Amino acid sequence: MDRDAAAERITKLTEMLNEHNYNYYVLDHPKISDAEYDGLMQELIRIEETYPDLALPDSPARRVGGEPAAGFETVSHLVPMLSLSNAFGEQDLRDFDRRVRGGLDGHPVEYVVELKIDGLAVSLLYENGIFVRGATRGDGETGEDITQNLKTINSIPLRLRHFLPQLEVRGEAYMPKKEFTRINMEREEAGLPTFANPRNAAAGSLRQLDPRVTASRALDAFLYGIGRVSGMTAAGHREGLQALRELGLKVNPNVRVFSDIEPVIEYCREWADKRHDLPYEIDGMVVKVNDLALQTELGTTSKSPRWAIAYKFPAEEAETVVRDIYVRVGRTGVLTPTASLEPVRVAGSTISSATLHNIDIIREKDIRIGDHVVIHKAGDVIPEVVRVIKDKRTGSEKEFHMPGACPVCRTDAQRAEGEVAVRCPNEICPGREREGLIHFVSRDAMDIEGLGPAVIDQLLGAGLIRDAADLYYLKAEDLLGLERMGKKSVDNLLNAIEKSKHKDLAQLIFALGIRHVGARTGKILAAHFSSIARLQEAEVEELTTVPEIGPKMAESIAAYFREPVKLQLLDRLKAAGVNFTQETPQAGERLFDGKTFVLTGTLERYTRKEAQNIIENLGGKVSSSVSKKTDYVLAGREAGSKLDKATALGVKVISEDDFEELVS
Ligand code: NAD
Repeated sequence: MDRDAAAERITKLTEMLNEHNYNYYVLDHPKISDAEYDGLMQELIRIEETYPDLALPDSPARRVGGEPAAGFETVSHLVPMLSLSNAFGEQDLRDFDRRVRGGLDGHPVEYVVELKIDGLAVSLLYENGIFVRGATRGDGETGEDITQNLKTINSIPLRLRHFLPQLEVRGEAYMPKKEFTRINMEREEAGLPTFANPRNAAAGSLRQLDPRVTASRALDAFLYGIGRVSGMTAAGHREGLQALRELGLKVNPNVRVFSDIEPVIEYCREWADKRHDLPYEIDGMVVKVNDLALQTELGTTSKSPRWAIAYKFPAEEAETVVRDIYVRVGRTGVLTPTASLEPVRVAGSTISSATLHNIDIIREKDIRIGDHVVIHKAGDVIPEVVRVIKDKRTGSEKEFHMPGACPVCRTDAQRAEGEVAVRCPNEICPGREREGLIHFVSRDAMDIEGLGPAVIDQLLGAGLIRDAADLYYLKAEDLLGLERMGKKSVDNLLNAIEKSKHKDLAQLIFALGIRHVGARTGKILAAHFSSIARLQEAEVEELTTVPEIGPKMAESIAAYFREPVKLQLLDRLKAAGVNFTQETPQAGERLFDGKTFVLTGTLERYTRKEAQNIIENLGGKVSSSVSKKTDYVLAGREAGSKLDKATALGVKVISEDDFEELVS
């Protein structure tokens, strides 16, 4: 490439990558896959290496992450939070090893190898053992203050197990795969845009101005590095991780130390296969020089340390053909266009369909029937079409149009103003009822073992059930005639159905499939109303006074109980003996009997009075000062001297999240 062409390409790539950085880091909404982004970045790095003087001042190859978003306070990191240089193949790891050994004049080196958790980097600051501040990486020098949101992560301790004057610790906040799937399904049902991957979902959840939104998503965090510490010394990174663990911080257990690069490569290979079995996403492995003195000797560039490298797993993408596009009906009526694909192996399983989310996305990506496409599995669970390979078009591809009616019941479809989702409004649509049944029996709902989609289809096909209540009226003789239903499986199924009658009220509320009501909201409603009868009576106004219930959710709950079909369903569930109330503990065995609480700081989800009522209803007492006799200090935002005193006396300090967990 000559100099002019290089200058032109550098300008173009810089502009494109900066735009993608903005979409990814600030909006949490990438427009291209990570593999495509990495490809463009590698190209820029290569050209800039050949013509270093042409690099632009805003070159994305020389800076970390993105700007902090508006709306958050900014935080200056005590020590810059850098990115990592990348290795895209085994040879890159060998080159890294050569550079390290070269930089240390052949001094023996040990490498610590860890999983590269695919979340977002956070820094936690503990002063005198207390968690005082948490931030995103931002541009490496300054990040966003997300302390309140990080406090909703249960595994982040509010107090260290041992006193330390100061500790700034870094780690990765992430969203487990299961939670990612759950939230995306909920978002799809609610007609909201879905998250591209668990990393963006975690970032989008943590960078919320309202901590209640963060709290409604089960995030987690692993800690993997010390920024600054006083009161503790460690000679090596491995030892540092052990010390973090002893302080009560969550450290990933899959850490190994090697003294040569070849076993490091072998270990990386091992995880490229095993990663699908993990409950969270990893996108590679991180290799770090163990000895801290050697790390200092190697130093850093402006963007990344020279003593560490991220080995990225190859993208889990595959090419296939869209055979057809059909429309699926969800339980709340959302019509989701879905691609039927030529079966292809990707990320350890065979994929034959992929969600296309909605018509806007189909148009944006210009996906047509007959197209060759690249697919990948987001969160290893839901396959998605990344892009169309337009060069392979023959002209015979067909554009897809959303049907004007529900494909199952033929009712006219509706699109609410401001929503991307198109819905079937028919409450008794057989397609919706089928999905509703699958939801009703699922693990977090009524948890009826042995009743998967195949058996539901069988029961629907035989005309034995139509809705959830029918399950409770099934008789052995009805089932015995069905294919693959012997006496033993019939007994097991009926027992499982019988057992589900005694599930918690919260599970029943979730199982009903009320729009916008997830498992967590089910718990909140059950705790607040204690029975279906009370919930059913509640008007929108009353519902909105319940913590975490917004106007949209309140409206949808009230609307559910106005539907005659739903009221009939509830009557029949009740008549069948399904539990409709929250059990209240017997006198003398209340949860907080004999326990004393002290409340301090500003609580986000309750007023002091509300928290006090909950404690007293459960048998506890609320006192205004902390003493050795205090059992719990419930600490909210900007907790002051009471918290310090609790720490000094060794009294248990709990967050609002811990409190909710206890209560539920
Ligand atoms: P990175 O993901 O390449 O690696 C650095 C990060 O790894 C650290 O900051 C830390 O957060 C994380 N990490 C996880 N586990 C770790 C461990 N055990 N030890 C140390 N660090 C660990 O760097 P980045 O700067 O966060 O992100 C760049 C990447 O983001 C790109 O390579 C690309 O894949 C993606 N990206 C994509 C787009 C897009 O539009 N699709 C845009 C920008 C960035």
